[in-house]
Amino acid sequence: MTLPGYDAWKLSSPDDDRHQLGVKEGEECGRYPEPDEDEPRGYKRRPCKGTMVAIAEHPDTEEVAVGCDTCGEMT
Ligand SMILES: [Zn+2]
Repeated sequence: MTLPGYDAWKLSSPDDDRHQLGVKEGEECGRYPEPDEDEPRGYKRRPCKGTMVAIAEHPDTEEVAVGCDTCGEMT
C-alpha cells in the first residue's frame, strides 16, 4: 500500500523538524517577529507572510543578499 503524497511530503521535509524558513528568492519568509512586551498575554504570533526578495548585491562576491520584503529579515 502506498500513500499518495507521502513521498512528496518526505522529499519536501529533509530531516528538518524546525519551521521552514524562506532562504531563497521567491520563497515565503515564515519567520516569526521578535517578541513584543506589549503584546497581549496569550497572543499568538503568526509567521511572516512576506516573500524573500533580492535586496542588494555585494560587489566583492557578486552575492545577492536575500531578505524579506515585509519584515526586512535578511538570510
Ligand atoms: Zn518576513
